[in-house]
Amino acid sequence: MSQYTPMIQQYLRVKADYEDAFLFFRLGDFYEMFFQDALRASQILEITLTSRDGGSSDRIPMCGVPYHSAKGYIERLIAAGHKVAICEQREDPKQAKGVIKREVVQVITPGTMMEGAGIQEKENHYLACIERTGQELSIAVADVTTGECKTALFTSVDAAVHELAAYGVKEVVTNGQWSEAEIKPIQARLGAVISVEEMSDAAPFRSLLSALTEDLTIQATARLYHYLHRTQKRSLDHLQAAEPYEIRDYMNIDYFSKRNLELTETIRSKGKKGSLLWLLDETKTAMGGRLLKQWIDRPLLNEQDINRRLGIVEKLLASYFEREELREQLKEVYDLERLAGRVAFGNVNARDLVQLKKSLGQIPLLAGGLKQMNEAELTKLADSLDPCTELFDQLDQALIEDPPIGVKEGGMIRDGFHAQLDEYRDAARNGKQWIAELEKQERDKTGIKSLKIGYNRIFGYYIEVTKANLALLEEGRYERKQTLANCERFVTPELKEKETLILEANDQMMELEYGLFSQLREQVKAFIPRLQRLARMVSEIDVLQCFAAVSEARRFVRPSFSANGIMHIEGGRHPVVEKVMDAQGFVPNDCQMEEGRNVLLITGPNMSGKSTYMRQTALIAILAQIGCYVPADKAVLPVFDQIFTRIGAADDLVSGQSTFMVEMLEAKHAIVSATDRSLILFDEIGRGTSTYDGMALAQAMIEYIHTQIGAKTLFSTHYHELTVLDETLPHMQNVHVTAAEQEGKVVFLHKVKDGAADKSYGIHVAQLAGLPDSVIKRADEILQSFESKELKTAPVQADVISEGQLSFFEEKPAVKPAKKDQSSILSKLLNYDIMEMTPMEAMNTLYALQKEA
Ligand code: ADP
Repeated sequence: MSQYTPMIQQYLRVKADYEDAFLFFRLGDFYEMFFQDALRASQILEITLTSRDGGSSDRIPMCGVPYHSAKGYIERLIAAGHKVAICEQREDPKQAKGVIKREVVQVITPGTMMEGAGIQEKENHYLACIERTGQELSIAVADVTTGECKTALFTSVDAAVHELAAYGVKEVVTNGQWSEAEIKPIQARLGAVISVEEMSDAAPFRSLLSALTEDLTIQATARLYHYLHRTQKRSLDHLQAAEPYEIRDYMNIDYFSKRNLELTETIRSKGKKGSLLWLLDETKTAMGGRLLKQWIDRPLLNEQDINRRLGIVEKLLASYFEREELREQLKEVYDLERLAGRVAFGNVNARDLVQLKKSLGQIPLLAGGLKQMNEAELTKLADSLDPCTELFDQLDQALIEDPPIGVKEGGMIRDGFHAQLDEYRDAARNGKQWIAELEKQERDKTGIKSLKIGYNRIFGYYIEVTKANLALLEEGRYERKQTLANCERFVTPELKEKETLILEANDQMMELEYGLFSQLREQVKAFIPRLQRLARMVSEIDVLQCFAAVSEARRFVRPSFSANGIMHIEGGRHPVVEKVMDAQGFVPNDCQMEEGRNVLLITGPNMSGKSTYMRQTALIAILAQIGCYVPADKAVLPVFDQIFTRIGAADDLVSGQSTFMVEMLEAKHAIVSATDRSLILFDEIGRGTSTYDGMALAQAMIEYIHTQIGAKTLFSTHYHELTVLDETLPHMQNVHVTAAEQEGKVVFLHKVKDGAADKSYGIHVAQLAGLPDSVIKRADEILQSFESKELKTAPVQADVISEGQLSFFEEKPAVKPAKKDQSSILSKLLNYDIMEMTPMEAMNTLYALQKEA
């Protein structure tokens, strides 16, 4: 250490406390990075790597970014999943003896960003903490930009991680006691940075933890607050008390299913466009947009709460003009939540406060409009809107309507608000008046018509005379300041004197204005909790009006709920596919499940609309339970506790698992967690393996769900053979999506009808796709020869399976003749715990079994 210069020594001391962050070390107008930081940052940011002498024999690698453009570089590092510690100079370089005092003022991390490209208006930005003891886990999440904080308990890591994924967290804080093997998959699943926080003392956060009773949630939340304070190093007055919630109070949709159903983003583009959120988002405020996403992520279970929302939507729908007015008013309401956050953080300007004032000005109008609609719940909402009148008045009296962006250059405060400020302003204005008069006098005295008085930052006020007129100036009175191409600039003693007065008045004015503005900001701070409450009410109203607007535009109907598990959808539509298709005519379909009917086995050719039908059923259920109308002519639904899906072949590349393994994992998840109040959608289960395997698995799953679980299940399959199961499974019913053949080609009708499909249209679909005629013809021949050999397998009767025999493989001789009794192989197969195998192990096991056969 001693080999280095004092400044580098100081750098190393600071850096030792921020090993996991890039240290931006302020040196004059630059933030510099040294050593490893410099090597890595120069690569990530594509900036020049240089070096500097630091006292040691080797030069020290160094790179830097200008102070004024640092923001963009910081954002890039954060977006790449890094942290940045900002180390500022803490004394005036002119007054410092020795090395200037420096100190880290903030650590910016992916989960604690307040602004920048990573922060979306209509999205929350969550930081999380995960904590556990034994089998129990707790997560706490906080959005620093809005101050909201929530916490919940879980009984498995999986469930906790699914919840974190739904929040889209960018950073997870832990106590550091998770092993590498435990944390790696979590990190991969979430794509989040893991940060370790040692917590010494939760006492400072006691008031924020007051609503929590569980030790584990207290610990998780306290650690989260602790981390926030340690990294942000400033007042976080906008952080709200942690709100505990129970996951079992909401419909549970695991992360895979949320993705499959494209609730908030599409699978392919990962963007919002094309998702349910995209379809629904008719919110007018950023806060409403964020709440809408939260509601979609967490549909309700309590029928009364659902009906309360539906009732408000109904009323709003019936009041067209009031609703249109409401939408106009909402448009004028600024992001109060994030504003409160920025007030606490100390980065608001006068413009923000004027927008705050305007937003508050809308509240009484909003409340009035809601009351006019004359409905109990809406009146209640209206009464709960707090217009913060005192704050409105203060802001209104203090600030002009259109203040500048900067807060240090004055021009923000109204005339008449503050006597001293008015005096300074008079002085400054009088000074300017005096200058104008002086210009006139000088023109008269010298007779130079083009003489003028100007101002610049370097020379201050000056008298400007063109070269041609110089001779007209009185000798000795004008002091030359600057020579330009065709004119010269002068000052006079009286001009100098007045200039001092004007500039002093200006300085004093700006300083005083900044002081007054800071006071105002402090006053706003005191209103933060009230503003946050107001923000919540406004966002709720916004989401409800959004439901009404969408329901009207897309012809949704109010759903009702059945106590006996009956599902009765008439003319149901997939709202997103319908919207995208628009004029081409989406074909509506019914979905009937009478009492005692649980499983619909859906057959039909590829591309006929099976998965669309399944998805629309889930979307209708979700829409109903978030309190929105649904895309159907009529809908009676059970209140579902959970929805599980296995749809499409969305490869899980991140965790490196094979498609089939993912399929089986998702199926397992559904089968072990579903109840008779759940909805299960299985699309072509078993497609990822051989026909026999796949069909056996599909049948076994149908039987299990049918008999053991009793969940409402839509099961699509291309194993036509499974359709005979309806003879043995009383709660199962066949439906099929119709297609017609016209001139040897398949035409999809997209209509769901009772009964099983009568033919596989695979080859015709291949033809539609444009495969060469010779291939199609050959496939036809092969199919016919298969059919004539009756190679088709029939499913095993349910009772046969339950007796533990498997005639399945015995039906396979045409493919591979059996050499000997295979029951030993079968019993081995049944004993394997496939879920615990890696794909490679499974392959090897299968290979060994096959050799034995
Ligand atoms: P499958 O699951 O049977 O292979 P999909 O559900 O993926 O078929 O549907 C294939 C395409 O058919 C969809 O992309 C959509 O464009 C169209 N489609 C599906 N259902 C309907 C419907 N009810 N009305 C109109 N078009 C539909």
